[in-house]
Amino acid sequence: MSYVDEIVDQVIAQNPSEPEFHQAVREVLDTIRPIVDANEQTLRRDALLERLVNPERQIKFRVPWVDDNGNVHVNTGYRVQFNSAIGPYKGGLRLHPSVNLGIIKFLGFEQIFKNSLTGLPIGGGKGGSDFDPKGKSDREIMNFCQSFMTELCKYIGADTDVPAGDIGTGAREIGYMFGQYKRIKDLFTGTLTGKGLSFGGSLARTEATGYGLLYITNALLNAHGIDIAGKTIAVSGAGNVATYAIQKAHQLGAKVVTCSDSTGWVYDPDGIDVDALKEIKEVKRARLTEYKNYRPNSEYHEGKGVWTVKVDIALPCATQNELDIEDAKTLVANGVFAVCEGANMPTTEEATKYFQDNGIYFIPGKAANAGGVATSALEMSQNSERLSWTFEEVDSKLKNIMENLYKNIDDAAKRYGMEGNYVAGANLAGFEKVLNAMNAQGIV
Ligand code: NDP
Repeated sequence: MSYVDEIVDQVIAQNPSEPEFHQAVREVLDTIRPIVDANEQTLRRDALLERLVNPERQIKFRVPWVDDNGNVHVNTGYRVQFNSAIGPYKGGLRLHPSVNLGIIKFLGFEQIFKNSLTGLPIGGGKGGSDFDPKGKSDREIMNFCQSFMTELCKYIGADTDVPAGDIGTGAREIGYMFGQYKRIKDLFTGTLTGKGLSFGGSLARTEATGYGLLYITNALLNAHGIDIAGKTIAVSGAGNVATYAIQKAHQLGAKVVTCSDSTGWVYDPDGIDVDALKEIKEVKRARLTEYKNYRPNSEYHEGKGVWTVKVDIALPCATQNELDIEDAKTLVANGVFAVCEGANMPTTEEATKYFQDNGIYFIPGKAANAGGVATSALEMSQNSERLSWTFEEVDSKLKNIMENLYKNIDDAAKRYGMEGNYVAGANLAGFEKVLNAMNAQGIV
């Protein structure tokens, strides 16, 4: 049996109830076979893959907090410090009832290669909790964040591990967590990114993941002689990534006609109104049912359905495995020609393969949504030099990073004889650098 297959089997046997983690490991290891097969003896000798798939450290802790009626609740907190070969652990904190160790491990594992692809010195990590922020008052959110950070602060630091936002963790939550970190540690450092602008946050961080997604999509289309202007796009999600992806798509002259949340989706033939979306989601923290009040021409539908609309480009920006094989078939039948993932692993393995087999340009999340973490690393740099760069400066660095990233994954795919396979290109390019650093640092 090949070394890769052995390790995939081992991961499944040792982590039986973590299907998302299996999926992420299988996808990465499958595509880095050319490197592994060519160096099998040395890699086996050094147990390189065993070290790659086992987190350096995983922390699980109790998070007790008190609600507005004085009742005590207990959630579980996680931080998986996966790989620090190329820099301090870096990755977001997810607050969602679906969070468990397997989800955090899949995200942390993906983060290793994503961070490597940015070209910046950041290792891979991820964390979060099964806490559900929906329907909680501001005080309850603060209570939870403070309790969460009271424990997490023991394990993080500006040169050790720098968490950021993710699903359910936006500027408000990062603010509360930063306040508690500072209070306990008495340190005003860049230990968290995604901070408010008045206390060390970076301009353009809020927009970065969505903008970065469009910069790489545009680079992809340019490389194939296609103009994004005038194209129709389906976006899923209505959170941070989706909102700014829609905004940048419109700035580039494309038209985004859908968005969604966990209960339903919107079709707006005139193009999604970003100001309305922001007011509904960021200010009112309400459901998408409200969108029709702003745009009477639009339609609201309960449940899933974003991928049934006829579009040129699909940008899944909500959550993992939200686009399955049936969705892929519908999109292809409707003439989609490019799919770029704003969310982490939103496309199932089967659907990814279907896109690739049908000649659809497909860029995986670890490359396409890397603009967020790249800009977080730029926030760390600004914090270290105690300076703030302008929006234009950060945005132009982000654009540069995403264009280079496209070139790197395209080049890696070509070097290994898999031209146009950006899944393989991203994994190979990301892995090359991590492998090099792990080899240089000995058996640790
Ligand atoms: P947000 O919490 O801001 O938004 C998430 C959106 O997805 C919401 O509209 C939410 O709906 C919807 N959603 C969440 N879970 C589900 C579900 N199970 N089914 C259907 N819809 C769901 O998160 P972000 O925009 O920050 O993150 C979106 C994705 O992008 C995630 O995969 C995240 O890991 C990834 N990502 C985020 C980065 C960032 O900088 N924020 C960076 C890189 C990747 P509702 O409003 O109903 O909750």
